[in-house]
Amino acid sequence: AGRRKKVADVIEELEQTLATPTPLLRGIADAMVEEMERGLRADPHAPLKMLISYVDNLPTGDEHGLFYALDLGGTNFRVLRVQLGGKEKRAVQQYEEVPIPPHLMVGTSTELFDFIAAELERFVETEGDDFHLPEGRHRELGFTFSFPVHQTSISSGTLVKWTKGFCINGTVGKDVVAELSSAMERQGLDMKVTALVNDTVGTLAGGIYADNDVVAAVILGTGTNAAYVEHVDAIPKWKGPLPRSGNMVINMEWGNFKSDKLPRSDYDIALDFESLNPGEQMYEKMISGMYLGEVVRRILLRLAHDASLFGDVVPSKLEKLFVLRTPDMSTMHHDTSHDLKHLGAKLKDILGVADTSLEARYITLHVCDKVAERGARLAAAGIYGILKKLGRDRAPSDGSPKQRTVVAIDGGLYEHYKKFSSRVEATLAELLGEAAASSVVVKMANDGSGIGAALLAASHSQYN
Ligand code: ADP
Ligand code: MG
Repeated sequence: AGRRKKVADVIEELEQTLATPTPLLRGIADAMVEEMERGLRADPHAPLKMLISYVDNLPTGDEHGLFYALDLGGTNFRVLRVQLGGKEKRAVQQYEEVPIPPHLMVGTSTELFDFIAAELERFVETEGDDFHLPEGRHRELGFTFSFPVHQTSISSGTLVKWTKGFCINGTVGKDVVAELSSAMERQGLDMKVTALVNDTVGTLAGGIYADNDVVAAVILGTGTNAAYVEHVDAIPKWKGPLPRSGNMVINMEWGNFKSDKLPRSDYDIALDFESLNPGEQMYEKMISGMYLGEVVRRILLRLAHDASLFGDVVPSKLEKLFVLRTPDMSTMHHDTSHDLKHLGAKLKDILGVADTSLEARYITLHVCDKVAERGARLAAAGIYGILKKLGRDRAPSDGSPKQRTVVAIDGGLYEHYKKFSSRVEATLAELLGEAAASSVVVKMANDGSGIGAALLAASHSQYN
């Protein structure tokens, strides 16, 4: 009975600290808008970098030719080629995906870029007859690089910092296009990088190619981030020439958002402290696929210690950082069997506990639910913040016809974790209210960033 009470106490405290009531989410959305404005003014203390992408013209659909794209930024590394055929023929594409060997994420810059160049070279070798490079031209590439980059032009930029699981000495401050280009040269690969884009910017470009009403793109994968189309007038820090479109795509780097309003628990504080990048990416650490499972692990460990959730001994595997991965959390969370047998099997697999009580399984399910719910609701508050910033959060009051607003979302977390994605959508609808929600569409943009990068490589081709 004493044990039951302890479980109940921990759970009750948990529910309080992870709670995201709607008024709190509204406050978080407002804080997001304020931080966006600070970042656009280049306030040196702004957590949101609001990076200028140098993309001021989005794809029109008229793009032609053969282009390559490369996507580096999380767990997988992707190479892609696409034959763009204008409005009639659209695009024919082929891609390959390989997991990034974990040792390369914490090795040297040269090793990482040599690996990429070698993979790319192998892929170029397989180019078939469906793809046509006009005589005498070099192949061109859009490089999707999903880390914060201070761009100096559409095709150059220096790394601000590594995030997610990456931690490589000596790359910060270097031009990542120069790094890639020298690796390609060492490899003997003749290819020119004509666009360097963040994955959010690539997703936005790919999204607009597929649907003209896309105004923002959000990534919910290993990490999380967003980009949107801003009016140049609203970017005080932009000192360059006024683009003809009047617009500039901004890479928010929203993973680094922080606010006193974020419901941070002791679990979050400890996770951050023991992470590769303490003090940074606070919002990302509450939302994205790299961390959700780890938050759950920390809560289960506490329950095992304080309330003997898994019996008298604390399973030693539960002490290991990152043993509980978000895909496993998702599998457990989606178990609908009456005795939660799939969840039980996962616990056995991961923690090595052969017989978990039905109570322990239900509590584990509940913990997954609370952690996923908080992440999804916080992500929705961020999206709502962007829509507020753009004035797309309400139906026009003068009775003029509603403008359709589309947000393109990509990333493995959103794609595969249904209980997460459905909560993002439900929460966004709740925040918008019925009238506004009816004109806002959230669209899965599967691998939009690859084609987006190729489209941007095309519109910035040296042969245009
Ligand atoms: P990245 O973000 O690394 O570029 P993805 O967009 O493919 O790549 O996202 C991969 C991430 O998505 C994984 O790190 C994982 O956190 C999450 N993920 C993948 N599959 C699932 C799943 N079934 N359930 C929950 N999360 C998943
Ligand atoms: Mg990605």
